[in-house]
Amino acid sequence: MSDTFTGNKALEIHEPLIFETGHVATTGVDVEEPAAFESRLGGHARKTPIDLPGLTEPETMRHYVRLSRQNYAIDLGLYPLGSCTMKHNPRLNEKMARLPGFADIHPLQPLSTVPGALELMQELSHWLCAMTGMTAVALSPKAGAHGELAGMMAIRAAIAAKGETRHVVLVPESAHGTNPATAAALGYKVESIKAREDGTVSVEAVKEKLSADVAAIMLTNPNTCGLFEPEVKAIADAVHEAGAYFYGDGANFNAIVGKAKPGDLGVDAMHINLHKTFSTPHGGGGPGSGPVVLSERLAPFAPVPFLRADGTLVERADEAGEGEMPFGRLTAFHGQMGMYVRALAYMMSHGADGLKEASEDAVLAANYLKAQLADVMSVSFPDRPAMHEVLFDESFLKGSGITTLDFAKAMIDEGYHPMTMYFPLVVHGAMLIEPTESESLPSLDLFIATLRDLARSAREGDTARFTEAPRLAPRRRLDETKSARKPVLTYEPPAPYQEAAE
Ligand SMILES: *Cc1c(COP(=O)(O)O)cnc(C)c1O
Repeated sequence: MSDTFTGNKALEIHEPLIFETGHVATTGVDVEEPAAFESRLGGHARKTPIDLPGLTEPETMRHYVRLSRQNYAIDLGLYPLGSCTMKHNPRLNEKMARLPGFADIHPLQPLSTVPGALELMQELSHWLCAMTGMTAVALSPKAGAHGELAGMMAIRAAIAAKGETRHVVLVPESAHGTNPATAAALGYKVESIKAREDGTVSVEAVKEKLSADVAAIMLTNPNTCGLFEPEVKAIADAVHEAGAYFYGDGANFNAIVGKAKPGDLGVDAMHINLHKTFSTPHGGGGPGSGPVVLSERLAPFAPVPFLRADGTLVERADEAGEGEMPFGRLTAFHGQMGMYVRALAYMMSHGADGLKEASEDAVLAANYLKAQLADVMSVSFPDRPAMHEVLFDESFLKGSGITTLDFAKAMIDEGYHPMTMYFPLVVHGAMLIEPTESESLPSLDLFIATLRDLARSAREGDTARFTEAPRLAPRRRLDETKSARKPVLTYEPPAPYQEAAE
């Protein structure tokens, strides 16, 4: 039962589904009945009404604004998702992306009318190659996972060009799920590599699995436990010696920009999540963008369209020149232009020194959290310095009846988005926290104090604070298993509404 007549709680306004607010029989706009016309749809015209709710502009706007107020956002508070780098999206980037010369162009416009856009892509490519120490970049992939696909297709093409076929891709067990999924989608057999006690991958474990049938290893560095792989160079050398390639998952690049170049570590292909490392909007504010950088050995296989170093554009595979062997095409056009503008604005406004400092501050912030929480929560790998994120597990909750999930739900009541939970899989009840460089010291301190208070409650047996959480969110705890296993994908109008529509 609600405390108020309307069901609203002051600024938190109860919002029904848009189908319950709007009505199929009404319309929000005045349009004249079209004059008689001859349908060109053949027999395919709809026979039943389309059943879209008719709403006015203010009603539509209110619906979405009200919903947005029930949600969490990077612009509302600290967003500690590990392996996700939820950093501030500087408004300068947004301003640049809205310049009409970038925002209003169309991919089918004549090339002679868009030299600035091409130059921007060229400049962005230059920054990405310089930072990673790589030869070429395919800008078009539309997310990290898409970049993985692009990089692995380039690897497959390079292997085929040598007249070889290889069937196996090695993936450490701490890997993000997209790595094995990418390899499997391309028809590779995935073989898992066990992590050591300290959360890292040993060159010995890799060597045991290497053979003439291995096409590549997909390795994330820093890895998803937030640790720099100390044997990464030796692993790269062993992989190359076996005639295989090193796909570097670059999702955690935020930790090492300006500090280490993946090219120097032996990486052959690596995606860069512009929406993680380079501050372009993420999640609901996306879209993502996942350019993939390629080593000299893989550069010839980059997909079309691509820009040559001299600025000329290769739009189709049949336009490829000497030494260019594009494996195909991933997207209709060039990718997420708006994100290129934002990412380059971020890079240029920081400069090389500023980008390096951002990485240093991100690592510092994670290690600060680690140091301030180590006595009350369990740091999974206490002996290694954390990189940009720090991994905890649920052993500090042992015997309390409280799980990682309960702990995360209690964070919601405190006004925080939960950290990444139950990933990576190498520890029990993982809590992966990435504060990023965007947070001020007072913001980090409040977050630390909140987690300390929650840990104290758990220790003192205040189980209800966790198992009943969230108590204060617009929705209480949902049945996540049921929603995943039995999703309701069709909308059935409630009975009185149905009658009214008839
Ligand atoms: C985010 C992430 C990916 C996938 O990137 P998307 O842009 O979400 O497709 C891959 N690997 C790791 C380690 C990640 O954190």
